[in-house]
Amino acid sequence: MPNPKRRHSNSRTGKRRSHDHLRKTTLVVCDHCHNLKPAHQVCPRCGYYRGRLLIPPKEKKQEK
Ligand SMILES: [Zn+2]
Repeated sequence: MPNPKRRHSNSRTGKRRSHDHLRKTTLVVCDHCHNLKPAHQVCPRCGYYRGRLLIPPKEKKQEK
């Protein structure tokens, strides 16, 4: 099996791992309820996406 000839420096390991972090979730303002929601996803609060009601919110069922 091939093996590394020399050990990597701490600096080289750190430079490689500098890209290993997680990205922050992109939040956008919902067009319908103006709540912050994840981009490209149905709004968790009002259930709207691209101006259409896709998932009726559970709170509204109780009001009826
Ligand atoms: Zn919404």
